[in-house]
Amino acid sequence: MEVNLKRYGLYLIRWQLSTPILAGVLMVLSSMSALVATIIANLIGGLIFFWVDRFIFTSRTLEAQWEVRDNIRCVDCGTIARGYRLVKTGSYDRSEDREPEFRCETCSERKSEELRERGVKH
Ligand SMILES: [Zn+2]
Repeated sequence: MEVNLKRYGLYLIRWQLSTPILAGVLMVLSSMSALVATIIANLIGGLIFFWVDRFIFTSRTLEAQWEVRDNIRCVDCGTIARGYRLVKTGSYDRSEDREPEFRCETCSERKSEELRERGVKH
């Protein structure tokens, strides 16, 4: 199984975020029995994190893989700068590209916009 590190990282952060929320709820409900308070806290956590998790596991934005390289010549404007290229997202796959095209930040943003208009989500 291929693990997407961006998804994995966000998922770990999301677990940390759930800690203060659950702790806060437990404090507010401290007059109740620990079992009932925990059930309610988990219910509240579930209501919130269902949506967060859904984003983490289904977002196309997180699927996109970019390659960043220093000191490349931008294929569009010829500037020597830090270069970016979209390697893979959904049906767009340039991971086997023998002559990868890098672009400077400005040109990369323009190209990004072009791809979006062509329906390549990233
Ligand atoms: Zn450029």
